[in-house]
Amino acid sequence: MSVLPKRFKRIKKVLDQRMENLTVLVEAVNKPHNLSAILRTCDAAGVLEANFICEGKEVKTFNSTAQGSQKWVKLRNHSTTNSAINSLKGKGFKLFGTTLNEKSIDYRDLDFTSKTCFILGAEKWGLSQEIISKVDECIFIPMNGMVQSLNVSVAASILLFEAVRQRKEKGLIPIKGEGLNKDLYKETLFEWCYPELINHYKKSAMNYPSLKENGEIES
Ligand code: SAM
Repeated sequence: MSVLPKRFKRIKKVLDQRMENLTVLVEAVNKPHNLSAILRTCDAAGVLEANFICEGKEVKTFNSTAQGSQKWVKLRNHSTTNSAINSLKGKGFKLFGTTLNEKSIDYRDLDFTSKTCFILGAEKWGLSQEIISKVDECIFIPMNGMVQSLNVSVAASILLFEAVRQRKEKGLIPIKGEGLNKDLYKETLFEWCYPELINHYKKSAMNYPSLKENGEIES
């Protein structure tokens, strides 16, 4: 059993452009189609991992909306707001909370080329005060219509693709896997090529094997 060469080539091409330093944190978004749409955008923008505050619940997505993108974007679940914020800050992410308050800055005036995390809030209530008090910057997308806010997945798309646009302009979009550290690249490549073997290696606490140039597993 081996990954087909054509599929291996495609997987590598996508992974080569993935970025560890761009992510989202989703707080209390509870409609599965919105979560799925956010993941689909993460995949398209080159995000390696998306973060969720799940408070013990499973993150539910819809395959029809996600189009399988849940397989290609890692999901990191955090049990509390505090642990999510501490973990992301500990990794050096700058946290941008999306909210329309008097301190919010127009997203077009900010730089998203270094470690960036966009924090997205619940459909009805937006971000909690707890998160707002802990972010580095509050940002908003200007609204010129009668309706006060965008759908959360639309807001995620606008912001992620603004980050991609800024990075492209500065030549910061990875092309050969430089967006991930070497171990993470190797681990993700194996998981994408051989998802059916992940449990086997995890259960036996073994490291994943190396892959040959053509994607076959080294014996
Ligand atoms: N009444 C809520 C509020 O006051 O935030 C509206 C929530 S909105 C439908 C859901 C989420 O989408 C927000 O928490 C935010 O993450 C994002 N969002 C929607 N419109 C936005 C905008 N114009 N600027 C920035 N984020 C926005």
